[in-house]
Amino acid sequence: MHRVDLAVIGGTGLYDMDVVEVIDRIRPRTPYGPPSDEITVGRLHGLMVAFLPRHGRGHRLLPSEIPYRANVFALKQLGATRVVSLSAVGSLSDRLKPMDIAVPDQIVDKTWGRPSTFFGDGVVAHVEFSAPVCATLRAVASAAVRQVTGTVHDGGTYVCMEGPAFSSKAESLLHRSWGMDVIGMTAMPEAKLVREAEMCYCLISLVTDYDAWHETEEPVSADMILTYLRKNAENAKAIISAMADSLPAGRSCSCGTTLSRALVTDLTRAPFSTVERLRPLLAPYLKA
Ligand SMILES: [Zn+2]
Repeated sequence: MHRVDLAVIGGTGLYDMDVVEVIDRIRPRTPYGPPSDEITVGRLHGLMVAFLPRHGRGHRLLPSEIPYRANVFALKQLGATRVVSLSAVGSLSDRLKPMDIAVPDQIVDKTWGRPSTFFGDGVVAHVEFSAPVCATLRAVASAAVRQVTGTVHDGGTYVCMEGPAFSSKAESLLHRSWGMDVIGMTAMPEAKLVREAEMCYCLISLVTDYDAWHETEEPVSADMILTYLRKNAENAKAIISAMADSLPAGRSCSCGTTLSRALVTDLTRAPFSTVERLRPLLAPYLKA
């Protein structure tokens, strides 16, 4: 069993992390079925890093079909404490152009029908989510993006839509009127599940297009997005490498103790089967 420090979830266009010196490829089992694909575990700047392609290699899963719970649970089982989530996004702002990279600090969830919690079945928890992204991990990501590309869009709001169709122009203008900065299809429920699993989370958003609002640009196509992402894949790998090089050893944030403030249920009265299922999450809160 590997003890992973940093987990990386790759989005569209990023299906491998060849900067990592591969030690193992694993297919973990979880109570939520298998994750999107095999997880690569390897070494990078002395850290143990796990890489999981969110859509599966060959890009086989729609955003709505991604097994978010299995993905996050599998990374937790590997001992990961920090999760970096890379994804392609559309720009909703004049400041963000294709090939730019944003490191958002807020998320608006417009998805529906995706299981968004590990809890239920007799164990209740309400995690704090006012800051959906870990400020400490985000700062490391932001500095790494700046180091690799010379610039970064620090902060901003990611609105997560269900997809898979892109926005209508009216929806795009609505999101702009709300002050959203980027739009994607995968940050939720990933961010909520990572918080429930007491891991740190940050987003690195690779801008591929202007969504549907821009008057002078071509409407967004999947082809266009892939062209930009192929160009950006090398940057993404260099950013992860820079992050691994500068990640502080311990955690000074409060992500790792989230459930101490969130669990409502008296675990001595909770159903045995649920407690067993959630053991990797609940272990610090169970009496021996
Ligand atoms: Zn944190």
